Amino acid sequence: MTHEPKAPTAAADSASDQDDLELADSPFDRAATAPSQVVQAREATRAARREARKVAPIQWMDPVPPRQQDTLWRSLTREGEARLLVVRATTAASEATRRLECSPEVTKLVGELMVAALLVRSTINPEERLQLYLNHQGPIGQVAIDAWQEGGIRAYVAHPQQDSRQAGFLVGAGVLQVSRTLGTKSYASSVELAGSSAADYVMHYLLESEQILTLVHTDVRLDEHGRIAQATGYLLQMMPEGTREDLRKIILNIGQLSAVGDAMTDQDPDARQWAEQLLQGFAWDQCARETVAYRCRCSRDRMMAMLTSLPVQDIAELAEGHEPLELVCDYCRRKYHVRPAELRELAAPPS
Ligand SMILES: [Zn+2]
Repeated sequence: MTHEPKAPTAAADSASDQDDLELADSPFDRAATAPSQVVQAREATRAARREARKVAPIQWMDPVPPRQQDTLWRSLTREGEARLLVVRATTAASEATRRLECSPEVTKLVGELMVAALLVRSTINPEERLQLYLNHQGPIGQVAIDAWQEGGIRAYVAHPQQDSRQAGFLVGAGVLQVSRTLGTKSYASSVELAGSSAADYVMHYLLESEQILTLVHTDVRLDEHGRIAQATGYLLQMMPEGTREDLRKIILNIGQLSAVGDAMTDQDPDARQWAEQLLQGFAWDQCARETVAYRCRCSRDRMMAMLTSLPVQDIAELAEGHEPLELVCDYCRRKYHVRPAELRELAAPPS
């Protein structure tokens, strides 16, 4: 066997020619060899383009959903200083609190937590699921808000009919636990409950565990029957590109603003005028929109799977009765019935 060096192929030749060409044409090389007037002209063009972008009108996401429809929209300033998210979750909050039969006080709190959860979820990976748990010593017990991609959201309260009359408060000392799930991976972190509202709890969490300066504002109003009349809110986040001066400008703008709930009218359901005031002095665009909707993740299959996880002895005991077993979803209160024969099958699966 001989080991003669291989003759270079035509393909290899042309590839190395290509490399040389690319090197000679690299921006670094061009900048180094171009006459200074050319460089100046190029920079002037770029600067002019940046200026033009600054004054170009805001790009809106049309069509605008009517005021009766829940929605969440996001915007970003063109220089990346800040982002603004605005949400309307009136229908979703009404549905969740109606199903749970919440007292008026709990209705307001759950509405605010839902608004805050939707906003925060929309700042993270779009495919992540966000679950907020209030674990505390107040009379209403645990509260859970579950929000996932495409604006799906649901809520749970251990004692939704309680109010603050006896204890003097709804939410006692405790923690906000935040769980983020992507695929099969889940991360949870907790911070102490700080402040006195859903927005306070969430802002404290974002600052403590994510180190992000964020303003979260909820505007949830009840009707004369103590039910949700309107559930809206916004989130404003300074991005790494944002400066102190940018922040100062935004704070001054916010001082002049009306409530976001008042700004969403039949003529302007997105509160675009209001947003233009908030981001006055910045070039920005409305860049994404999600549909928000109350949904539950429960199903008969999931309920059966939960039963299967019980010890066989417990299932056998449940199967002794003659009436179907009634299971109620903690979130949507939907009822599922399991016949004794099905339970017996679960207790003694065919081998
Ligand atoms: Zn359910």
